[in-house]
Amino acid sequence: MFHNDQLAAFWMPFTANRGFKAEPRLLAAAKDMHYTTTDGRAVLDGTAGLWCVNAGHCRELIVAAIREQAGKMDFGPTFQLGHPLAFDFANRVGELMPAGLDRVFFTNSGSEAVDSALKIALACQRSRGQGTRTRLIGRERGYHGTGFGGISVGGLVNNRRAFGTLLTGVDHLRHTHDVANAFSRGQPASGADLADDLERIVALHGSETIAAVIVEPMAGSTGVLLPPVGYLERLRESCTRHGIILIFDEVITAFGRLGTATAAERFKVVPDMITLAKGLTNAAVPMGAVAVSRAIHDDVVEGAPDGIELFHGYTYSGHPLAAAAGLATLDLYRDEHLFDRALELEPYWTDAIHSLRGHRHVIDLRTLGLVAGIELEPRSGEPNKRAFELFHDCFDRGLLVRATGDIIALSPPLIVTRSQIDEMVGIIADRLATID
Ligand code: PLP
Repeated sequence: MFHNDQLAAFWMPFTANRGFKAEPRLLAAAKDMHYTTTDGRAVLDGTAGLWCVNAGHCRELIVAAIREQAGKMDFGPTFQLGHPLAFDFANRVGELMPAGLDRVFFTNSGSEAVDSALKIALACQRSRGQGTRTRLIGRERGYHGTGFGGISVGGLVNNRRAFGTLLTGVDHLRHTHDVANAFSRGQPASGADLADDLERIVALHGSETIAAVIVEPMAGSTGVLLPPVGYLERLRESCTRHGIILIFDEVITAFGRLGTATAAERFKVVPDMITLAKGLTNAAVPMGAVAVSRAIHDDVVEGAPDGIELFHGYTYSGHPLAAAAGLATLDLYRDEHLFDRALELEPYWTDAIHSLRGHRHVIDLRTLGLVAGIELEPRSGEPNKRAFELFHDCFDRGLLVRATGDIIALSPPLIVTRSQIDEMVGIIADRLATID
C-alpha cells in the first residue's frame, strides 16, 4: 500500500485530490467485468471504466495486438509519412459510420476530437466561401471534453468559470432535460420543440454567421440526458436549411453503447461529423477520431491550393499501437456481436433499473441502450453529496458506479451478464436503503 506522501505528485484529473489522498481507492488489475483493487478486492465494473471499455477488460485479442505491434514498430510519424495500420483502421472505422461519413481524422482523446471537429467545420465553411460563418453553437449541460473549444461549446459552469473568456462567438441551445419526462423508458415523449432554439439563434445572429452546432445525441457525462422523440430530426432539418454543419459528439455513444455502431444509426439521424474516442480502442491505448462527411472532406482538401490542406494534427495521430488496438477491438465487437448483444439486453437492463422506482431518494430513472441515470434527490444544503457517498459505498461493496452531480450513471461493458445486472441493481438498492 502507498503512504499518503507517495500520492502527492500525481495531480489527479476531475478528482477531489485532498479527499482521495486521505482515503485512496486504488486499482491494480482488471479482467473482463471486474477490477481488482490493490488490497485484492474484486470490483464489478458498472461503468466500463469511464464509458470506454466496451468489450470488457484486458481482452486477449487486443492485448496480443498491442504487444505484437509494440515489438514491430513502436511509432511512425503520420506527417508526410504513413504506415498501413492507420489507413486500415480508418477504413474500418469508416465502414461503421453512417453512409458518407467515411473520412477519418485521428486524435488522441475525445477532447482533441471535439476541437478537431470544430476546426474542420470552420475550415470547411471558409473553403465553401462562407468565411463569415465563425459562430459555434453548443448546448447547456453539454460535455465536450476539456480543450478550450470543448469547454466553450460545453455547458457545464464548473468546467468554464475558472478559465477566462474561452472562445468568443459561441451560443448555447437549452438542454433537453425536463422533469415532466421523469421515469420514461428510452427517449422521452416531449421536448422536440427545444430544437427550435437553433431557429431563434439564427434569427438573432443571421445564419451567415453560424458555422456549426455540436451536441451529444445522448448526453452521458452530465447525467444521462436523453433526446426527446423528434428532437434530433428537427435539429438536423434546421442545420440543413441554414447551411450549418451538424456535429454529433459520440465519444460515449458510439461502439455499441446504444446497441448500434453509432447513436446516429440508432436515432436514424445523420450528422455531418461524428467525434469518437473511448470505445474506439476499448480504451486500451488512448485514441480519438473525427468521422467526417465526404462533402466536408472534399471541400477542404480539393478546395485547397497545392500542399498541406489542413494545418492541424497531432504527433500521435494514427499511432501504431492505438491503430493495432483499434483493429483488434473492432474485430472483437464484430465477432462477438457485441452491439447486438447490447440491444438484446436492453429490455432486461431497463426493467432492472426501473425496479429502483419507489426506492428512497430516487426521483428519476433514465435508460437507453446499456446506459442508466439514477437521479437522487439532493440532500438539503449538501448538493451532490448523496450520490458521491453512494459511489463510495458501492465501491466498498464491490461495485463501480459513477457519480455526476446527484446522478448515478451506469454504463457496463457490453459483455455484462443478466446476473451481473441483478448484482449491480441489488447493491444499489441495498445502499439506497441505508444511505442518509
Ligand atoms: N465528449 C464527450 C461526449 C465525452 O463524454 C467525453 C469524455 O467523457 C469527451 C468528449 C472527452 O473525452 P476525453 O476525456 O477523452 O478527452
